[in-house]
Amino acid sequence: MLKLLITSLFIVLMTGCQNISPEVKTDKQTASVKQKKMQSTDKSQATTSLADQKKPMMHKMFQTVDKKDAILVQQGAQKEHCAMCGMNLVKFYKTSHAAKLNGKNIQYCSLHCLTDHINQGAELENPMVVDVRSLKFIPVTEAFYVVGSDVKGTMSPVSKYAFKNLEDAKRFQKKHGGKIVDFYSAWQIAKKDFKNAKQ
Ligand SMILES: [Zn+2]
Repeated sequence: MLKLLITSLFIVLMTGCQNISPEVKTDKQTASVKQKKMQSTDKSQATTSLADQKKPMMHKMFQTVDKKDAILVQQGAQKEHCAMCGMNLVKFYKTSHAAKLNGKNIQYCSLHCLTDHINQGAELENPMVVDVRSLKFIPVTEAFYVVGSDVKGTMSPVSKYAFKNLEDAKRFQKKHGGKIVDFYSAWQIAKKDFKNAKQ
């Protein structure tokens, strides 16, 4: 009786194994197909990202100038870096701003970072901005800002480029769009970056 039970149990086990075995095989086949599909997807993604990586190397950023053309007004080891965010001032030179704080020269990568400093209570004097045409600093009160053009901005989704001459601003606007405003308006638009960030 016991022998019969063991035998039938053995048969059940064997049958069970036979039933399971083809399923396992099928699963393995499916898995390998899936793996192949994943590999081919990975390859196409790799090709795309390689192409993307080439773009910035071929096209230098609009803001970037030769180091010899950049006016850096700060002293010390941090001379080349934005006083607020630390970004390189030569790389983002065409949106650079400068001001005096307690008699010390401070330089920013952008109107965004100057606005950030004012928001934090800094009492800045003599704010200046780079004229995109001449690459020289001019008082912000004399600048024409082209806001929201298709040229990428610095630290902000809405770009802001300043010009000493209205004609230069208009030429830039004709090519890249955006609107021409004074410093006060550009500053109000820069403040919106921070309101958006808090929401
Ligand atoms: Zn900055």
